[in-house]
Amino acid sequence: MNSELQNLIDLQQVDARIAAVRAEVAALPKEVARIEAKLAGSKAAVEAANAAMKADESARRKHESDIKDQQEKISKYRDQSLKVKTNQEYKALMSELEHAEAEIRKLEDKILEIMVAADTRKDGLKQAEAALKADTTANEKEKEHARQQTAEDEQQLDELNAQRKQLRSGVGEETVTHYDRVLKLRGSVMAPVYEDESCSVCRVRLRPQVFQDVMSNQQIVTCFYCNRILYFVPPPPKPEEEAEAAKVPAADSPKEEPVQADEAAG
Ligand SMILES: [Zn+2]
Repeated sequence: MNSELQNLIDLQQVDARIAAVRAEVAALPKEVARIEAKLAGSKAAVEAANAAMKADESARRKHESDIKDQQEKISKYRDQSLKVKTNQEYKALMSELEHAEAEIRKLEDKILEIMVAADTRKDGLKQAEAALKADTTANEKEKEHARQQTAEDEQQLDELNAQRKQLRSGVGEETVTHYDRVLKLRGSVMAPVYEDESCSVCRVRLRPQVFQDVMSNQQIVTCFYCNRILYFVPPPPKPEEEAEAAKVPAADSPKEEPVQADEAAG
């Protein structure tokens, strides 16, 4: 095979790897943001659990202080009851006293509710703290992995770009320009041609003379339909007819619209 053609085939592989590595590099910040958001969520859950426990504690203290107030009222009413002159006054005092006792019972119920809920609150906090600990460890690991991945990707990109430069220097200027145009437009440039005499990418059938030129693998021939650069892939030494037929799909109608590379570049 012509060295220019071989360079182009290798160049397309290198370009595909560069694109893949670049996509990976681009995806990493998103991945880091995702793991940071997860950790922030775990921190917020611990804070919420702590806040709930503190709120319970302060509510309980408030209820206890209210009970004291009511108890003081009751003892005051009892003192007053010893000094009342009329039955009416006594009845009024007793009513106040009953009211205060009822208030105390209500407050005691509320305190009991808080005490019953306390175990659930504690469990919730424990779970949230355990999740935060696990997420913090995972976060560090994942960020370290992302750092390593980025470093590896950058090194790989350096190597691939060096290969790319080398390969491009082995291809004529006009052909490189054509390659770049078609790559930008089609996403791929090199189209293998098998024995069925068609461009295997766009499926268009080649004219016999064009196929003869492609078969030699000694010159740059482009597909008149998709503009890709064609190269011939000879059949394996002992082809089994059935296997070959399955491997190379029949050339029907073209899959893509014909677009002039010159127009597309503009
Ligand atoms: Zn084609």
